[in-house]
Amino acid sequence: MIWAPPTLLCGSLAPRGLTARLWGSIRTRLAERLGGAALATVLRRFVLSKRIGIDLGTANSLVWLAGKGIVLNEPTVVAVSVEDGRVIAVGNEAKTMLGRTPDNIEALRPLRDGVIADYQVTQALLAHFIQKVCGRAFIFKPEVMVCVPAGVTQVEKRAVLDATLAAGARAAYLINEPLAAAIGAKIPIANPSGNMIFDSGGGTTEAAVISLGGVVVHRSIRVAGNKLDEAIAAYLRKKHNLIIGEQTAEEIKIKIGSATSLTREETMEVKGRDSILGLPKMIQLTSAETTEALKGVLGQIIGIIKGVLEETPPELVSDIIDKGIIMSGGTSLLRNFDKLMTAETGVPCHVAEDPLLCVVRGTGIALENIDLYKRSISQK
Ligand code: ADP
Ligand code: MG
Repeated sequence: MIWAPPTLLCGSLAPRGLTARLWGSIRTRLAERLGGAALATVLRRFVLSKRIGIDLGTANSLVWLAGKGIVLNEPTVVAVSVEDGRVIAVGNEAKTMLGRTPDNIEALRPLRDGVIADYQVTQALLAHFIQKVCGRAFIFKPEVMVCVPAGVTQVEKRAVLDATLAAGARAAYLINEPLAAAIGAKIPIANPSGNMIFDSGGGTTEAAVISLGGVVVHRSIRVAGNKLDEAIAAYLRKKHNLIIGEQTAEEIKIKIGSATSLTREETMEVKGRDSILGLPKMIQLTSAETTEALKGVLGQIIGIIKGVLEETPPELVSDIIDKGIIMSGGTSLLRNFDKLMTAETGVPCHVAEDPLLCVVRGTGIALENIDLYKRSISQK
């Protein structure tokens, strides 16, 4: 049996640097030596290992490698040089730079509202993920599936497909985020029965009713976790004359934030700058205050669920009442958000298992079973 570097066996397309003919003859030789079935298994394994699913979230980007699962989970932040637009750092490294950069570096969140706000930077981000998963000198280009919010325009979809191809993919696929979230939350989306999925991340919130593998009714709003952070910062400024940064606001939300009042009040020390004196200042903040601060934004988010329920055909509404609404995305983790949603909509709301991972998991499952989910996928 001859030895061949594993990378040489990947993909049915010829690797870069080899003509299709030469690659064909290598494959024939290998088939003779290994046996056709064994070669097919080896090829399938390596072809699969080069299929990548990406959840390009406004807050966090996650990468799924077919056959392996989640291999990367980093904040969607890119640091670029102001002079020439060169990418200096991506992900965790870039996040630590947010709000702390000198004049010549800018740390950006390229997907502020769930869609590509900065094409070049998004492409650099995708290339970074692909390289990290495939290695710098990958011979075979991977197939990449990216999920996009259901509400994006054709132009925005095209921008994501183009950015994915430009970042080094040999084929690019898109899947609707609510569908991916539902698949990842283990909802049997192909059944002829209504299911409602709610996904709220950093920049966007989406609510969709799914039946027979497709989205029946859908609404989205560019209001989610970031707006909750801003609401906390605005509250502190107004009520306590305290100015805080966005990272501190997020920390408050995660530590003591609650959508409804808690039976046992929690408090937290918050440090910032006095808006009148300009000097450092510290206060004790209670979770009851966060409930007050978050009320308006949470109301806006819940409003889209009500909108979707109003538009949903009665048969499907009755399915949803039976099964409840499944919540995914990081903002679903806000304490008592499920309780508030249940009270406001009259439909039982449940947080999915690992809400931060549903979308990437669903993207990965769809990628691994492309034929099964063909209807839900666009391709370039
Ligand atoms: P995206 O899909 O937009 O990248 P994610 O689903 O990763 O967003 O969710 C990120 C958002 O979830 C952030 O706004 C973050 O502050 C929020 N988040 C994460 N954990 C919690 C928590 N325990 N409580 C409240 N919000 C949370
Ligand atoms: Mg998301």
